[in-house]
Amino acid sequence: MATSKAETEIAEGVHRCGTSHVNWYLIEEDDALTVVDTGFPTHWQQLFDRLAAMNYGLADIEACLLTHAHPDHIGFAERLREQADVPVLLHPAERQRARDGGDPPLGGFAKNLWRPAIVRYFIEIVRSDGTSIPPVTAVEPIADGSELDVPGHPRAIHVPGHTDGELAFYLPDRDVLFCGDALATVDFETLQGNTPQLLPPWLNVDHEQARESITRLDFLGEVVLLPGHGDPWTGDMTEAIELAQRR
Ligand SMILES: [Zn+2]
Repeated sequence: MATSKAETEIAEGVHRCGTSHVNWYLIEEDDALTVVDTGFPTHWQQLFDRLAAMNYGLADIEACLLTHAHPDHIGFAERLREQADVPVLLHPAERQRARDGGDPPLGGFAKNLWRPAIVRYFIEIVRSDGTSIPPVTAVEPIADGSELDVPGHPRAIHVPGHTDGELAFYLPDRDVLFCGDALATVDFETLQGNTPQLLPPWLNVDHEQARESITRLDFLGEVVLLPGHGDPWTGDMTEAIELAQRR
């Protein structure tokens, strides 16, 4: 059943898509759209359903931004690029990972399969074709601090640590921050809770760098925080950072 616009709009002109475990988003501006992250490959059908429910078509998507190139964020990016000629943009440090189809931290997953939530997530990965991600073969680089000339006009902020090229995207006129996996709002090891937090160390390339680099977001003030994993969280970014650094 198609969901209505009102059900998916979680901030002004911003729509949450994906599953209870994996988020990606649509930004509307002047009847054009930006896609932020692309979930798993099987989420392609959901993109069509959402576009139809919102009276849009593929041709209305002007850009695809990737916070980073893990498999649960780049699922249908290549298909979108190929079939709709949508440019895919990410930080240059993620280019190789995107070409490699995501390069997930498999060792960490293997060690954590005793956790029921990780087993549930792993089942979702397999069912969503997350073990065979189409490589993203052509991308355009995003520079730290740049304001992107795409619907929503997000500002890119480099927050490395989860991966080397992790980016957050900030919409100044809507106080919305897409933080990718620099922060989650759910505890990834239990898939419960709604508090800003770092991903567990085994999911971060450099956990200490992840802890440090989120302070780059401190100047943003009140935001609607929209992570790759977990529900939206509304509050002051300074508080979000303090909560995240407690772990
Ligand atoms: Zn990730």
